[in-house]
Amino acid sequence: MEHYRKAAAQPAPLDEDTLRRIGQFAKTPPAAESLFVFSVVLCDNEIDRDWDQFSTAALTALAPMMVGKTGIFDHNPQAGNQLARLFDCRVEVSDTRRNSLGEPYAALVGRAYMVRSEKNRDFIADIEAGIKKEVSISCSMGRQTCSICGKDIRRCGHTRGRQYAGRRCFAVLDEPGDAYEWSFVAVPAQRAAGVTKAKKGGTPMEEAMFKSLFTPGAALPDELLLRGSEVQALRGEIEALQKQAALGEQYRAALAGEVTRLACLAQPQLPRRTMEAVCGRLTVEELTELEKAYRAAAANVLPLQPQTAPRPAAGGKPGADAGFRI
Ligand SMILES: [Zn+2]
Repeated sequence: MEHYRKAAAQPAPLDEDTLRRIGQFAKTPPAAESLFVFSVVLCDNEIDRDWDQFSTAALTALAPMMVGKTGIFDHNPQAGNQLARLFDCRVEVSDTRRNSLGEPYAALVGRAYMVRSEKNRDFIADIEAGIKKEVSISCSMGRQTCSICGKDIRRCGHTRGRQYAGRRCFAVLDEPGDAYEWSFVAVPAQRAAGVTKAKKGGTPMEEAMFKSLFTPGAALPDELLLRGSEVQALRGEIEALQKQAALGEQYRAALAGEVTRLACLAQPQLPRRTMEAVCGRLTVEELTELEKAYRAAAANVLPLQPQTAPRPAAGGKPGADAGFRI
C-alpha cells in the first residue's frame, strides 16, 4: 500500500441530487441542515513530489473504487477518527490546462459529506475559510513504469527523482488494484516537498526521510513505507555508521590498554585487573584525561625514554665510533 498525496478541499453545494446520493451511504439519511458537503481533489495526473504520476487511465479506474471510502486523519483508521465519506468521484479533464508532460491536465475529484458535529466544527470552519487541507489517498497500483526505460521501476535500477542524461526519472502509476482510504494529512509526511538539495547522491525524498528519522523529537508516523531505493540508502548509512563504531571501539580499547599500563607504572601497588575493569567503563574523553595524568605521574616515577632517543650501543663504550670520525 502506498500513500499518494494531493490537493485541497473546498465547500460544495448541497442540492436534491446530492442529498439523494448521500442517502445511499447512510442508514438513516442525515438532515440536510446537519450536513456539510465539500469537494476534494484526491489525485491528478501531474508528477507529484515523490516522482509518481498517475496515468489518466489509472485515475479513471480509481474513480469508482473511491466512492464510499472513508476519509480519515493521518491515515489512522480509528473509529473516532473517521471524518467524511466520499459519495461521488469522477475524473475531470481540463480543456486548457496541461500537466508538465504536455498532457491534458486530469484530476480525480471527489465529493464528500460529513456531519456538522462539535468534533468536526474546527475542521469544517477551516474548509469554509479556504484553508487548504492536504489529502492523500491510499491504494495499491499494479503497474509502476519507469519513465526512463519503460520497465517496472521496482526492478529496473533507476531511482525516482534522479536525472539520467538530463531526463528526470519518475514512475507512471497504472492499473489500480484496490483503494483503501483517503486521508487528511495534518502532519506532512516525511517525504516533504521542497526539502533542500540532495546530499551524498540521495534523492530529496531520501534526504527528507533521514531528516525525519534522525531528528530528535521529530514526529514519526505510525507506519513508514520505504521503497527499495530508500532501504538501500538506509543500509548504506547503517553500514557506514557500523564501520565508524568499530573504529571507535578499537581506539577506545587501545587507549584503555595504554591507561592501564601507565597507571600500573605510576602506582605499582594498584592491581592491574582493577584498573582494567575501571578503564572498561570509562568514555574516550575520560580515558584521554586519565592518560595525560598517568603519563605525567609515570614519568615522575620512572623517566620514560622516547623510543626515538639514541641508545648507547650494547657493550660499547663511549667513543667507540671515534675511528670513523673524520
Ligand atoms: Zn528504469
